[in-house]
Amino acid sequence: KMNLIWFRNDLRVNDNPALSSALENKQRQVVAVYCLCANQWAMHDMGNNQQWLVLQALSQLKVALAKLNIPLVILESETFQQVPNRLSELCGKLGVSDLFFNMEYPIYERRRDKAVVEKLADTVKCHRKVGQSLVAPWEILNGDGGGYKVFSAYARKVQVYLDHNPPINPAPPTARPAENRQIPKISGVVSQLPSIKPSAEVTPDISEDFVNKQLQTFCRQQIGEYKANRDFPAIQGTSELSSALAVGTLSVARCYQTALQAGYPASSTWVNELVWRDFYRSVMWNYPRVSQRQAFNSVDKFVPWNNDRQVLEDWQSAKTGIPIIDAAMRQLNTTGWMHNRLRMIVASYLTKNLFVDWRHGEAYFAQQLFDFDFASNNGGWQWSASVGTDAAPYFRVFNPAAQQKKFDPQAEFIKAWLPELKAYSSNAIHKFETAPLEGYPRPQVDLKATRKLAIESFKRANAA
Ligand code: FAD
Repeated sequence: KMNLIWFRNDLRVNDNPALSSALENKQRQVVAVYCLCANQWAMHDMGNNQQWLVLQALSQLKVALAKLNIPLVILESETFQQVPNRLSELCGKLGVSDLFFNMEYPIYERRRDKAVVEKLADTVKCHRKVGQSLVAPWEILNGDGGGYKVFSAYARKVQVYLDHNPPINPAPPTARPAENRQIPKISGVVSQLPSIKPSAEVTPDISEDFVNKQLQTFCRQQIGEYKANRDFPAIQGTSELSSALAVGTLSVARCYQTALQAGYPASSTWVNELVWRDFYRSVMWNYPRVSQRQAFNSVDKFVPWNNDRQVLEDWQSAKTGIPIIDAAMRQLNTTGWMHNRLRMIVASYLTKNLFVDWRHGEAYFAQQLFDFDFASNNGGWQWSASVGTDAAPYFRVFNPAAQQKKFDPQAEFIKAWLPELKAYSSNAIHKFETAPLEGYPRPQVDLKATRKLAIESFKRANAA
């Protein structure tokens, strides 16, 4: 009998419930598998940065598994569609009796997993584990038995739940004997991972060792200042663990436990952000339409979104003439990461001032971000466009001019990314709307007039 552990976006050997369960029975041979679906990545708008990161994590995983004497088989499959057949062939060839995996929540991943379980039903027992959220999305339901639509109510329930059911990290994996490495020759496996060049100029280190240390340091030294610092992009006040969480070299349960040990429980500001991450997974699980390019709120169907390519391209290439937006977009284009405050500002600007369909912004972020996470990106864009789950009954429009003055008062962040503005005082930079800055474009649009137009369009859409 053989156990097969199927890795997906949980590319780690530590804190991995599925791997841990697969290793429980010491008599069994254990083999690992990963299905490389390049066309599916393209269909999900996943860009070179995250593709590179996944491949990086995968080669590190191979080494870590080899130390445990566990072979990793990499299967090539164009899309999710071929995965059930490919896995079934592999299970037949190896004589697999049990398949282990951590559940994923977006609809296409769920359909793929269902098809796999059905295909293998007669021969292989499937063990589904929860390893990609603090709480499984079906655990936290509202009074009607449905998924929560408002974050604050969801978060209150999660806090109580976590107090009574803290996530338990599985025991660290132990090595199998050397014979465990011996498997029959399998045809069509990927022996050499494709080489992909990231589009960013710098790349994050997401190796398990590194990010676990980064987490420890953050929880020892920075978490106490997180609330005060997290909104200022010129300060390194957030954990920057998102890329490791997105590809799964770090477990969210480990993040929660480390914060808790440092004295920061579920109600603390940083852990609350981890709960936001869970919330968007819960929305995705309970309202699958959001995985299918549809908005949570049907008002979206009545909003006359603008599809003007030129304004979108100017936003993408940091040519809006609005310093905080251009600086943020340069940070994204250069590093493949953007500060959360800036994600909210640029998303609000694209959807509310340029009135561009939020799906274009969502896709561009997916193409650029190392930390692209379908649920958080989709949730963040829908929230910013006022078409998602949102407790605010009014139409929120961030004013980029006011935001940059408040969150980058000395224009430090702006000057770091827009060297052409270095010679100007922060005061002059904040007056960009009324006093032109030589050598820098005029604002793409009038912020006040476009805000008014957006509010009127939304009012009409809401009444439709
Ligand atoms: P920290 O502030 O240290 O937070 C710790 C962790 O909590 C993060 O790593 C992340 O996993 C989670 N988290 C924090 N804020 C949020 C949030 N608002 N929603 C969900 N999870 C959160 N996050 C992604 O991981 N991937 C995305 O593709 C993504 N797209 C976004 C798009 C928009 C329009 C917006 C407004 C937000 C998006 N976010 C996304 C959420 C957030 O901006 C990032 O998680 C955060 O900036 C990552 O930096 P950090 O690791 O330093 O976060």
